[in-house]
Amino acid sequence: MSAAHHSTIVILRRTDKVRRRISTNRAWQQFFLRATMFHLIGLACTPFTIANPPASLKPLQIYFIDVEGGQATLFVTPAGQSLLIDTGWPNNNFRDADRIVTAAKDAGITKLDYVLITHYHDDHVGGAPQLAQRIPIDTFIDHGENREPASQKLYDAYKALLDSGKYQHIVAKPGDVLPIQGIRAEVITSDGQVIQKPLNGPGLPNPNCANSPEPPVDTTENPRSVGVLVTFGKLRILDLGDLTADKERELMCPVKPFGYVHIYIASHHGFNQSGSTALVHAIMPAIAIVDNGAKKGGSPSALDIIKSSPNLEAMWQLHFSEESGTAHNTASKFIANLQDPDAGNYLKITAQPNGIFTILNSRTNRSNYYDYQERILRLPR
Ligand SMILES: [Zn+2]
Repeated sequence: MSAAHHSTIVILRRTDKVRRRISTNRAWQQFFLRATMFHLIGLACTPFTIANPPASLKPLQIYFIDVEGGQATLFVTPAGQSLLIDTGWPNNNFRDADRIVTAAKDAGITKLDYVLITHYHDDHVGGAPQLAQRIPIDTFIDHGENREPASQKLYDAYKALLDSGKYQHIVAKPGDVLPIQGIRAEVITSDGQVIQKPLNGPGLPNPNCANSPEPPVDTTENPRSVGVLVTFGKLRILDLGDLTADKERELMCPVKPFGYVHIYIASHHGFNQSGSTALVHAIMPAIAIVDNGAKKGGSPSALDIIKSSPNLEAMWQLHFSEESGTAHNTASKFIANLQDPDAGNYLKITAQPNGIFTILNSRTNRSNYYDYQERILRLPR
């Protein structure tokens, strides 16, 4: 990144902190005003009901469910549709399926419209058969045939669901837009292919390619992950499954097909085979969510790449990474599960299309407030 760009970002950061403080103050003023009015009205006429907000004001909800180092990310759109990205692990007596169903209930849904399987490793597809016993599912989305012999058993168990005839099935290709209502979910990678056409105008040169080492070629299912870029109003959210650094380079070098994202769901649980600077520093995430386990993902070098990303405001993690220690983990208030006995705490984003969102840590029951109404639009695309 050029010095000019860098100084622009620094200035915007400062301006933005002020703006955020102002809008936080405003939010509190509004809150107290409403609370006062609530009490006055409450005194005058009880009981009364508050009407449901119009659909346009309903938020996008995203649950980062703790499946102990696997993935299970649930999107519930303002249109009431749901997209679950991955199903966690097999076995463990329905642990991951039950955690997903708990999140679905919290979001007020009773079925999953779309379940996207990024690839056929146990921490992603393994939970699918148990999940299908716990909650109705409409449609499965995946990259097509399994490509790794070691994953064949897991794939066969998933394929049995598809072959039952109970579900619709979509094989995703780069450039496809998933039919889910309320968000735009565009497929960026699938089955080892990456999107060829830049999104939103011409692609931009990616200066991070030059100082990022050429990674080894990965021959497992990981680089075949279905990756999606979700757009919701002004917000962009990127989830590339366990896409490895060789494929990140193919996607982002020498020209990147898209620029910044607000929320980066850290590839591969923050494991150091993924999340290269060629990707992370090119997309300049404001927020990173790492779905690591205590002993899986969350590698020191991968966490450091995220933390040194030029536009990062906060890194959140599902677990304290034992390998990374306090030097590399994020601050504990941003971690859903510390080193205590595991409680399966989750993180939840509640987002408005205007670029305002909160992140709830279910362990502390506290939310952080983020306002990207202005800032992100001024960054280099
Ligand atoms: Zn994984």
